[in-house]
Amino acid sequence: MPDYQYDLFTIGAGSGGVRASRMSAGFGAKVAIAESTYLGGTCVNAGCIPKKLFSYAAHFHSDIEDAVGFGWANDGVHFDWKTLVANKDREIARLNGVYERILTGAGVNILRGHASLVDQHTVEINGERITSKNILLATGGAPVKPDIPGSELAITSDEFFHLESLPRRVLVIGAGYIAVELASIFNGLGAHTTLLYRGQLPLKAFDADLGTFLAAEMRKKGVHMRHGNGIERIDKVAGGLALKQPGGEIIEADCILFATGRAPRIHGLGLESLGITLSKKGGVKVDEHYATNVPSIFAIGDVTDTLALTPVALAEGMVVADQLFNEGKRQLSYENIPTAIFSHPNVSSVGLSETLARERGFEVKIFKSDFRALKHTLSGRDERTFMKLVVDVATDRVLGAHMVGHDAGEIIQGIAVALNCGATKAQFDATLGIHPTVAEEFVTMRTAVV
Ligand code: FAD
Repeated sequence: MPDYQYDLFTIGAGSGGVRASRMSAGFGAKVAIAESTYLGGTCVNAGCIPKKLFSYAAHFHSDIEDAVGFGWANDGVHFDWKTLVANKDREIARLNGVYERILTGAGVNILRGHASLVDQHTVEINGERITSKNILLATGGAPVKPDIPGSELAITSDEFFHLESLPRRVLVIGAGYIAVELASIFNGLGAHTTLLYRGQLPLKAFDADLGTFLAAEMRKKGVHMRHGNGIERIDKVAGGLALKQPGGEIIEADCILFATGRAPRIHGLGLESLGITLSKKGGVKVDEHYATNVPSIFAIGDVTDTLALTPVALAEGMVVADQLFNEGKRQLSYENIPTAIFSHPNVSSVGLSETLARERGFEVKIFKSDFRALKHTLSGRDERTFMKLVVDVATDRVLGAHMVGHDAGEIIQGIAVALNCGATKAQFDATLGIHPTVAEEFVTMRTAVV
């Protein structure tokens, strides 16, 4: 048997790569990991973590306004962008250090630089060739901008976290979760914010009621929600940028941000020379064991066509480590993966949307609730909370739970456990509420609307 330098060589020290490497080393494998930028990948450096920190920052604006109804005075309060960015950078540097210690502590050798495949057992990094029995591609994804004149004048989520100052007028383009989150942050921090999206509603991938409800709530908070039929070009104009739509309509802004999708990061990886198969969407194609068509090369996370979420990349990394170096019993179900969107208000979902449930042949009962949370009786804010349950008529099982409202993700996380246990609507009904909370509404919806 050939003598390889490592049992596992991982390319990419993001969520999935770090977890797979650390666990593999824990099972006794000799592991190296290559990282071309910062340890921790997208989630830590340009995704979940800075986004959530900025989202907290943006929430204070409405919290301070809401406090007035509770007797607090709202005077002399102001926001400083540079403080937020500096404090966020400090926290991320701390996390980068935590990741380094996790890896070195587990005995993983960290190599800094861009890595590429040479053959099925060889990787090249900084001009050095290194052999490994197995290679794991965990290179993640990167934002894509549409190919239109002037797109280089716009930014993406990557640059958003490092802007020198808070723009006065912002145009966010996109209909997905990153678009609504970043538009909410800009708006909450005080920028005049427009969200431009194709189609009638944002969040097409979710239950349709969520997009409808969120759009209405974001509009109430001051985001200019505009649906358009595309974009033609972006030009520099006196005092800012101008985006031209096909009908000739122009939207001016100081900052234009594309949140129009992400693509697997495969450039310069050497996939072509090995004939590694890609999917139609451009992700690395893998089988149920996360193996590519080259048996010693595996891929996980955003570089494949999986759900682009950190917990998914982590779970896939653990399955690969387990199957290569342990008992191989660990599995990952892609059913009932809960997700949250940290827009203002938050959105969260687990299980099937009403449409998907019907498409899969279920006859469903739908329970919905739309109400004003107790807090807003005194804050005076015209904000409403929305909840929805999709229930299978034949078995009474709850197939989907959906929410728009404060801390929706914190609430749906618990409901996801119930759905994974196959909870029925009768069991939801038999559960006592915690009073007074918003979440208790999930166990008190008695009458089906459909
Ligand atoms: P990544 O974390 O992207 O890591 C890949 C790493 O590989 C990177 O560090 C990269 O530098 C490195 N790399 C790439 N090519 C090479 C090479 N050739 N050589 C060496 N190194 C290389 N998910 C959630 O679950 N919740 C959220 O709230 C959330 N919010 C998000 C917000 C934003 C704005 C974005 C952009 C993403 C968000 N995500 C969120 C998605 C989440 O960040 C990703 O799904 C997750 O990071 C994917 O992990 P990964 O291991 O596949 O890749």
